[in-house]
Amino acid sequence: MFRKPLALCIVLLMCISALSLAHAQGGIVQGTPRTPGDAEIPEMTDLLEPKVPENIQKVVIRDDNRTSVNPREHPYTAIALLSVSAPCGCSWETTGFMVSSRGMLTSANSIYCDTHKKFFDAMTAYFGVTPSGEYYYKYNVNGTYWYFDKFLNPKDEADWDVAYLLLDEAVGDIVGNFGLCILSDYDLGMEWVEVAGYGAGGLKSDLGITEVLSEYLVGYDADTADGYLGGPVFDKDGYVYAVNTAFSGTNRDFNVGRRITDDLANAMFEDGLFR
Ligand SMILES: [Zn+2]
Repeated sequence: MFRKPLALCIVLLMCISALSLAHAQGGIVQGTPRTPGDAEIPEMTDLLEPKVPENIQKVVIRDDNRTSVNPREHPYTAIALLSVSAPCGCSWETTGFMVSSRGMLTSANSIYCDTHKKFFDAMTAYFGVTPSGEYYYKYNVNGTYWYFDKFLNPKDEADWDVAYLLLDEAVGDIVGNFGLCILSDYDLGMEWVEVAGYGAGGLKSDLGITEVLSEYLVGYDADTADGYLGGPVFDKDGYVYAVNTAFSGTNRDFNVGRRITDDLANAMFEDGLFR
């Protein structure tokens, strides 16, 4: 996980942030934290489709072990390099991706400073970033974010390491968006998936085979790197099965994602991400 700037977080910064609590928080608003429920998904299957803007070419996925991909092709255009900062003074880079015109999905740890227990208060999203640092689209994020209250419970943190944002601007109409797929344990096991994210050297991805770990978690033997946190785990048709959230140590190319579940999709729907 790419948390390099955390090393710079010192007690002094905490004091500064305590003094500046009244400081304007820009355009970032926190929605009421979500609680897990077992509400049924509304009839919104067609809202969970991937969408490709007319002027963006769709990538033809091959069955190879890719390392670098073209960030100017869909669905990679819909993946953002997120430059994030928090009121404690910490800043870091991570990954998020569009799932609708205004909806973005990422991991909860991508928008949370664990050292100082602060959520972010500023974010810039860069879409279609090339290795030389040029980007297709930049958005200084204004909007509302949500996480599940269980994320702050250490026992359940991995199960709820997911967060989503409703952006004020229809960024997905410009960069496209992924679809979402809620799969049963049976359908999710032994599937080919691709996992992508922004790390050192730009946008990269790899292919792997899934293994269901629990109701909320899925593993896959795809390589990931620093910065992939919050990236999409998806199929060749651009449907996301999970959000990449963790890796299982340094010796295994085995990574873990938070599955797209009924709870998550329903909460996103109720919070207006698919309207
Ligand atoms: Zn911090």
